[in-house]
Amino acid sequence: MKISIVANHEEKSLEFVAELHKRIAGTPIEIDEKHPDIVLTIGGDGTLLSAFHRYAHLLHQVRFVGVHTGHLGFYTDWRVFELEELVRSLCNDQGKSVSYPLLDITVDYREMGKSSHFLALNESIIKRLTRTMVADVYIKEELFESFRGDGLSIATPTGSTGYNKSAGGAILHPRVNALQLTEVASINNRVYRTLGSPIVIANNENIQITLEDAEDYILTVDQLTFEQSNIATISYKIATERIHFASYRHTHFWRRVKDAFISDAKSGENC
Ligand code: NAP
Ligand code: MN
Repeated sequence: MKISIVANHEEKSLEFVAELHKRIAGTPIEIDEKHPDIVLTIGGDGTLLSAFHRYAHLLHQVRFVGVHTGHLGFYTDWRVFELEELVRSLCNDQGKSVSYPLLDITVDYREMGKSSHFLALNESIIKRLTRTMVADVYIKEELFESFRGDGLSIATPTGSTGYNKSAGGAILHPRVNALQLTEVASINNRVYRTLGSPIVIANNENIQITLEDAEDYILTVDQLTFEQSNIATISYKIATERIHFASYRHTHFWRRVKDAFISDAKSGENC
């Protein structure tokens, strides 16, 4: 069993990593940062997001496990006091996993033939810094609406509890293989009209956003931010790749949603 450990710089995380190193000594678990079977993240959802981007080229062979050292996270099932159980699960690993959809992003620039490609675990947001973003939204190559406003967010099911939720999007169970488009502060009046509610598109569908020529676009891919000019079109679809999590135990998704957003984590059950 080869593992890689990705931790944030919180004191609690560093303590956990030190303890983990002690506990795995003498077990079949070894550290291999280049070709791990398991990527173990210690910190928060943000830590798992950075680990995802670090290992995005190995998604077909890597499974993730998240430990949270702050508040309960959506990608982080394990708590610090469960170290022993975690090491036992790693030692007895049967290779079981659950997988979730990812967002495939292709950016085409105005320069002919120039494009770039990204994978997101949570979402991608396109917005403009100083002025109204003007964009045409196509679904399956057909014009759906002309958008004016701050920006548009396209989220995965597991990302639906992140920025998407703050933008008024619905929470999707991660077993649903779909993407959600959410408007950010759209202008709606007698001249400009958008649907005004989030939409969820199916597996074989795609969204294209063509942008007015401007110099000050911001494109986010999870926690990464790119200031971009000259974007002509961004195309979104469900990626062929998926993220795999080691499934050592079952976590009830809606209970996690409740614990994170509704009930005080201290008074309710955590997992
Ligand atoms: P961050 O600014 O620390 O993240 C903001 C919060 O979002 C943190 O509490 C983070 O949890 C949480 N989060 C991340 N992914 C989530 C998910 N899938 N479901 C529920 N909560 C989630 O930045 P970050 O840690 O690098 O994470 C980047 C993500 O944060 C973005 O992809 C976006 O989804 C989210 N975000 C949301 C807003 C907003 O709601 N207005 C603004 C900025 C970013 P941890 O503390 O456990 O890391
Ligand atoms: Mn964070």
